[in-house]
Amino acid sequence: MTDRGSSERRHAVAAMSGDEFRRVGHELVDAIAAFLEGLPDRPVTPWPSPAAVRALLPDGGLPESGTPAGELLEGAARLLFDTSLQTGHPRFLAYITASSAPIGMLGDLLAAAVNPNCGAWQLSPVASEIERQTVRWIAELVGFPAGCGGLFVSGGNAANFTCYLAARNAVLRGAPDDADATLVVYATPETHTWIEKAVGLFGRGTERLRPIPLAAGGQAADAGALRAMIREDRSSGDRPFLAVGSAGTVGTGAVDPLTAMADVCTEEGVWLHVDGAYGAPAAALPGAPADLLAIGRADSVAVDPHKWLYAPLEAGCALVRDDATLLAAFSHKPPYYRFDSVEEADPQTNFYERGLQNSRGFRALKVWLGLRHAGREGIVTMIRDDCALAARIHERCREHPELEAITLGLSIATFRYVPPALAASGLAPDEAATYIDGLYERLLARLQASGEAFVSNAVVDGRFVLRACVCNFRTDWPDADVLPGIVVRHGRALAAERTPDGEAP
Ligand SMILES: *Cc1c(COP(=O)(O)O)cnc(C)c1O
Repeated sequence: MTDRGSSERRHAVAAMSGDEFRRVGHELVDAIAAFLEGLPDRPVTPWPSPAAVRALLPDGGLPESGTPAGELLEGAARLLFDTSLQTGHPRFLAYITASSAPIGMLGDLLAAAVNPNCGAWQLSPVASEIERQTVRWIAELVGFPAGCGGLFVSGGNAANFTCYLAARNAVLRGAPDDADATLVVYATPETHTWIEKAVGLFGRGTERLRPIPLAAGGQAADAGALRAMIREDRSSGDRPFLAVGSAGTVGTGAVDPLTAMADVCTEEGVWLHVDGAYGAPAAALPGAPADLLAIGRADSVAVDPHKWLYAPLEAGCALVRDDATLLAAFSHKPPYYRFDSVEEADPQTNFYERGLQNSRGFRALKVWLGLRHAGREGIVTMIRDDCALAARIHERCREHPELEAITLGLSIATFRYVPPALAASGLAPDEAATYIDGLYERLLARLQASGEAFVSNAVVDGRFVLRACVCNFRTDWPDADVLPGIVVRHGRALAAERTPDGEAP
């Protein structure tokens, strides 16, 4: 025991006695367990208004004096349970936001308790090694070389930005000062919006994003067109540096032809980045298509464990083929840090030298625990089941006379409600399209507000469609089976309110 000197003691209100921590902590865990058990019986969302939510918060400004922890936690738990949109609900099927795994919830608590700073190895010895191991396991899972560089970041956007910056630094290193004015980036219009942010934020406003055309009849890139664009741009003095392929687009789950894109990028000396924020883990499925397996040929990959690995928000992961590229882009060593390894043979990994953040939380723990809890087998089974459930939704929509199944990609099904009155209305196709687009905007809002199921939308061939994404280990067969009926019931009610010819019946 360290001698603590005089008996003079400070009272810090943030400190909590062990007994109090146990008492309020156990109460909170009990409340969370009951909440999780009761999730399926709650509405997916109470769909509150901003004013209604604000009215539930404490009145006035910052409280002058404190409140006991037990009372605070009990109130906060009730507020959150009753007023949140439940992303863990079995019929939450919107965007790509996953149900979070209970092991990850507990992992976050444990990480916060120890609170390592995963910027520097010396401040987080075991946490940094766990992060290194988790990065390797994720690479292994998605078929990327496990000896790669990589780190945890806040999510898919941050992972894509990190890879983008590493690629950009690699091409500009040693190039003339004005070289960045000629950089050209290639991505299909189906690429997630991070690419526009990246090109807008990280260039000097002169970097250009060139859309890769979609191959006929689909949502994936035309690799031949990519090759032609790269050659044409180079011959006119530009510097093609990065092509982005999606391993599962955010809209419809389409996988770009990554094998052909890797061939093009290898031949043309262009960095291939794969945005696998949604779909990369599907590369672990037995019999995964060759284009998912081609993730292994990319120069960098973004993976998002808070999506299809069911980690609680936030956890993204950037993987770069060569760790030295990350160091070259991000490592600066200020005089006030003394974090360099003394032991050359067994170097310490400092993650602050590999990404945008300085102080870093222990995001890897919840993912490390989640991967070990499920094992590869468990992960593969859950992903396979999510895909099968989306296929079931697709099938049920195809069978229903008032629904049209549109696309099915990975675990995303898109579909439309087709009011029977429309066919009988004799409207010209463009008038019918305008009517139906207006109907869908309202149908989506009504479905979401109903609390029965929460879906989102996509745009396929320029048309608004409804979209169910199963990234949810709590979704079960009955949920998939009832979804089409819920959509049709709300669709009929709306169509009855406004008929195709604009007349209220
Ligand atoms: C979700 C998603 C992103 C963005 O990830 P965040 O975790 O929301 O930052 C990027 N690309 C794709 C394909 C995605 O599905």
